[in-house]
Amino acid sequence: MPQGHTARKRFGQNFLSDPNIIRKIITAIAPDPAQHIVEIGPGLGALTVPLLAACGHLDVVEIDRDLIARLKETYAPEQVTIHEGDALKFDFARLPAPLRVVGNLPYNISTPLLFHFASFAERVRDMTFMLQKEVVQRMVAEPDSEEYGRLSVMLQYRFNMAHLFDVPPGAFRPAPKVTSAIVYLQPKPMSECCCRDEALFGRIVTAAFGQRRKTLRNTLREWMTDADFEALAISPQARGETLSVQDYVRMADHISQRGV
Ligand code: SAM
Repeated sequence: MPQGHTARKRFGQNFLSDPNIIRKIITAIAPDPAQHIVEIGPGLGALTVPLLAACGHLDVVEIDRDLIARLKETYAPEQVTIHEGDALKFDFARLPAPLRVVGNLPYNISTPLLFHFASFAERVRDMTFMLQKEVVQRMVAEPDSEEYGRLSVMLQYRFNMAHLFDVPPGAFRPAPKVTSAIVYLQPKPMSECCCRDEALFGRIVTAAFGQRRKTLRNTLREWMTDADFEALAISPQARGETLSVQDYVRMADHISQRGV
């Protein structure tokens, strides 16, 4: 194991060890000392070291006590501000906006982490993450594809996203079983995220993809009548995966205007 640390599966620990990949990620992030960066899960510092060299200061959020102890030994507090604990519960409003969020994320909690980060989108300049390639494909998927689902719609509503490049298992120690990928997320201007009732939007999207084989007439029967479908020119026979993000926004707006 690198540097005498035993990787903990429960914390999704696969440490980057390929210097070319690390360089490529840092180039993609393009750190700038004038910008505030927070790294999720610094681990043994594969990204932390080059980020710090470029920026001079970083905030990091790490859950593993052994790794936190190593970070404290390695970095002075004025270089790295260590936030000990679970990134899922971290309040990003504590840090100055606009924030740049980066990290080779623990794959076992990547979806809840993405939703947590999305809830702070207004405070974020951009985010660059390493994730399982399959998750990145779901994030950027287009309607009518197998990968298109709740994650695609909810994140595409809020962010412009790009699948930058793939990273093979051999770039990590220990090697994960799956291929990874780097994804870039940039919040859309708030004027573009203009759904009247975002909680309702989230409930509709969840219901539409909850039972993928069922038609919208079935999955959305709590909210949408045939007359509503007709008013929006959306077929009640269609399935959730055929609708665009904009279609979901139109449905949520229609329901909230009409009153449930
Ligand atoms: N950044 C390092 C690298 O690229 O080699 C480590 C990446 S490893 C995939 C994930 C890191 O996230 C580990 O350091 C792990 O301890 C940390 N981690 C796991 N779950 C976490 C959580 N809920 N909150 C904060 N950090 C977490």
